[in-house]
Amino acid sequence: MFDTAIIGSGVAGLSAALTLKALRRDIIWFGRRDLSEKIARAEKIRNYPGLAQISGADMQKAFLDQMEREGLAVTEKQVTGVYHLGTHFGVLCGQETFEARTVILTTGVEAVKPLPGELEFIGRGVSYCATCDGFLYKDKTIAVLCTVKGLEHEVEYLASLAKKVYLCARYPDPAISLPNVETVTGRPLAVEGGVRAERMVFDDRTVGVDGVFMLKAAVTPAVLVPGLESEGGHIAVDRQMRTNLPGCFAAGDCTGRPYQYAKAAGEGNVAAHAANAFLAENKRESL
Ligand SMILES: Cc1cc2nc3c(=O)[nH]c(=O)nc-3n(C[C@H](O)[C@H](O)[C@H](O)COP(=O)(O)OP(=O)(O)OC[C@H]3O[C@@H](n4cnc5c(N)ncnc54)[C@H](O)[C@@H]3O)c2cc1C
Repeated sequence: MFDTAIIGSGVAGLSAALTLKALRRDIIWFGRRDLSEKIARAEKIRNYPGLAQISGADMQKAFLDQMEREGLAVTEKQVTGVYHLGTHFGVLCGQETFEARTVILTTGVEAVKPLPGELEFIGRGVSYCATCDGFLYKDKTIAVLCTVKGLEHEVEYLASLAKKVYLCARYPDPAISLPNVETVTGRPLAVEGGVRAERMVFDDRTVGVDGVFMLKAAVTPAVLVPGLESEGGHIAVDRQMRTNLPGCFAAGDCTGRPYQYAKAAGEGNVAAHAANAFLAENKRESL
């Protein structure tokens, strides 16, 4: 079992990982090898201490160099669920499970708001995880909204199971060409249905479906972690970055505005120290 699972590989996750490494904790860190799209995309960063006028690409390189020097590696897996199991956490990545005594959520924010009907039909036709729920749609018709090119392998997996896939790719140059995949170019507007999701509404057409998959870089925290308290769409935390779940901490954009690198780095550091204190405290109690 790991001491801490860090979920998200932006600045907040990196800061938490560096601090826990310095504190000699055994961590697993989930995310992307290139860290975060938001780091690479920034044109010029003018307000990060010590790195005057740095471009996002140079900042990304500086972070990757630092990780290499510190021997830190990201486990390239998308976390699909985090479950509080009383004394520890189960971290689900599709069909794989990892266990950790504490969790730090640094998942960033999804710029796009959930669609009308999306949250209402979770578990009743709306899913965020191809490997968890794909088999439920064998030989069925599904709509797939994919916001990141890096998740195209999940679209292909779904297409290998479903009879028909309506694919709405929300990124440039989608590269999926399969006989049972029809690309929809319209803007997604809503998920509709009765007891279950039955229709996906786009601005140019409506298609009848058995299910809808939302493949996104980040999902709403309360969907990822059942029982987690939110406040105004962000994870509710105190000054130690503690959430309402004992042993679960959060840092960075996912805890609220301002959405800034310096805030994310600072909060990642505080969350790491708080997780370290929690681990020490609970070790004492179990002696
Ligand atoms: C174009 C642009 C320019 C910007 N310029 C500036 C600037 O000049 N100055 C400034 O201070 N801020 C700037 N920002 C804001 C800054 O990028 C964010 O505040 C910062 O990236 C937040 O870091 P974070 O670690 O909280 O989240 P993010 O950087 O969003 O990282 C979260 C990471 O977690 C991953 N993740 C999410 N969910 C999961 C999951 N379930 N499993 C595995 N991985 C997951 C995501 O894929 C992502 O890689 C800019 C943002 C943009 C988009």
